[in-house]
Amino acid sequence: MICPCGADHSADAEGSRYFVSVRDAGRSGFPAGPYATHAEALADVEAVREIAYRLDGMTHFFEWGTARVDGDAAAKLGPGKLNEALKVSRERAEG
Ligand SMILES: [Zn+2]
Repeated sequence: MICPCGADHSADAEGSRYFVSVRDAGRSGFPAGPYATHAEALADVEAVREIAYRLDGMTHFFEWGTARVDGDAAAKLGPGKLNEALKVSRERAEG
Protein backbone atom coordinates (compact mmCIF):
# COMPACT_ATOMS: atom_id res chain seq x y z
CA MET A 1 0.00 0.00 0.00
CA ILE A 2 1.39 3.39 -0.96
CA CYS A 3 1.13 6.08 1.68
CA PRO A 4 -0.11 9.62 0.85
CA CYS A 5 3.51 10.76 1.36
CA GLY A 6 4.46 8.72 -1.70
CA ALA A 7 6.52 6.12 0.13
CA ASP A 8 5.85 2.42 0.44
CA HIS A 9 6.12 1.64 4.15
CA SER A 10 5.60 -2.09 3.78
CA ALA A 11 9.29 -2.65 4.59
CA ASP A 12 9.00 -0.83 7.93
CA ALA A 13 9.51 -3.02 10.97
CA GLU A 14 6.43 -4.81 12.30
CA GLY A 15 6.42 -2.84 15.56
CA SER A 16 7.01 0.55 13.96
CA ARG A 17 4.78 3.35 15.16
CA TYR A 18 4.36 6.88 13.84
CA PHE A 19 4.09 10.18 15.67
CA VAL A 20 3.40 13.79 14.82
CA SER A 21 6.77 15.34 15.54
CA VAL A 22 7.99 18.83 16.26
CA ARG A 23 11.45 20.36 16.29
CA ASP A 24 12.77 23.67 17.42
CA ALA A 25 16.35 24.76 17.97
CA GLY A 26 17.70 21.30 18.58
CA ARG A 27 14.84 20.17 20.79
CA SER A 28 12.31 17.68 19.52
CA GLY A 29 9.05 16.20 20.70
CA PHE A 30 6.33 13.79 19.72
CA PRO A 31 3.12 15.61 20.66
CA ALA A 32 0.67 13.14 19.09
CA GLY A 33 0.72 9.43 18.59
CA PRO A 34 1.53 6.63 18.43
CA TYR A 35 -0.25 5.83 15.17
CA ALA A 36 -0.19 2.43 13.51
CA THR A 37 0.33 3.98 10.07
CA HIS A 38 2.23 6.93 8.66
CA ALA A 39 -0.92 8.02 6.82
CA GLU A 40 -2.76 8.51 10.14
CA ALA A 41 0.10 10.55 11.59
CA LEU A 42 0.31 12.69 8.44
CA ALA A 43 -3.43 13.33 8.53
CA ASP A 44 -3.17 14.82 12.05
CA VAL A 45 -0.16 17.12 11.58
CA GLU A 46 -2.22 20.21 10.76
CA ALA A 47 -4.72 19.66 13.58
CA VAL A 48 -1.91 19.17 16.11
CA ARG A 49 -0.10 22.23 14.83
CA GLU A 50 -3.27 24.29 15.30
CA ILE A 51 -3.82 23.05 18.84
CA ALA A 52 -0.21 23.80 19.75
CA TYR A 53 -0.51 27.27 18.24
CA ARG A 54 -3.54 28.06 20.40
CA LEU A 55 -1.55 26.99 23.47
CA ASP A 56 1.64 28.83 22.51
CA GLY A 57 2.01 31.17 19.55
CA MET A 58 5.73 30.50 19.34
CA THR A 59 5.02 27.02 18.04
CA HIS A 60 4.14 28.72 14.75
CA PHE A 61 7.88 28.90 14.11
CA PHE A 62 8.59 25.26 14.93
CA GLU A 63 9.16 22.56 12.31
CA TRP A 64 6.25 20.14 12.22
CA GLY A 65 6.24 16.73 10.64
CA THR A 66 6.07 13.05 11.36
CA ALA A 67 8.51 10.53 12.74
CA ARG A 68 8.73 6.76 12.73
CA VAL A 69 9.74 5.08 15.96
CA ASP A 70 10.80 1.45 15.90
CA GLY A 71 10.46 -1.33 18.42
CA ASP A 72 10.37 -0.71 22.16
CA ALA A 73 11.17 2.97 21.74
CA ALA A 74 7.54 3.68 20.81
CA ALA A 75 6.26 2.17 24.04
CA LYS A 76 8.89 4.08 26.02
CA LEU A 77 7.75 7.36 24.50
CA GLY A 78 4.21 6.85 25.68
CA PRO A 79 1.20 8.73 24.35
CA GLY A 80 1.60 12.18 22.85
CA LYS A 81 0.94 15.15 25.16
CA LEU A 82 -1.64 16.57 22.76
CA ASN A 83 -3.52 13.31 22.15
CA GLU A 84 -6.29 14.31 24.53
CA ALA A 85 -6.63 17.86 23.14
CA LEU A 86 -6.75 16.38 19.65
CA LYS A 87 -9.55 14.03 20.66
CA VAL A 88 -11.52 16.87 22.27
CA SER A 89 -11.16 19.15 19.24
CA ARG A 90 -12.25 16.31 16.95
CA GLU A 91 -15.33 15.63 19.07
CA ARG A 92 -16.14 19.34 19.03
CA ALA A 93 -15.80 19.44 15.25
CA GLU A 94 -18.17 16.52 14.94
CA GLY A 95 -20.65 18.34 17.16
ZN1 LIG B 1 4.18 7.79 4.45
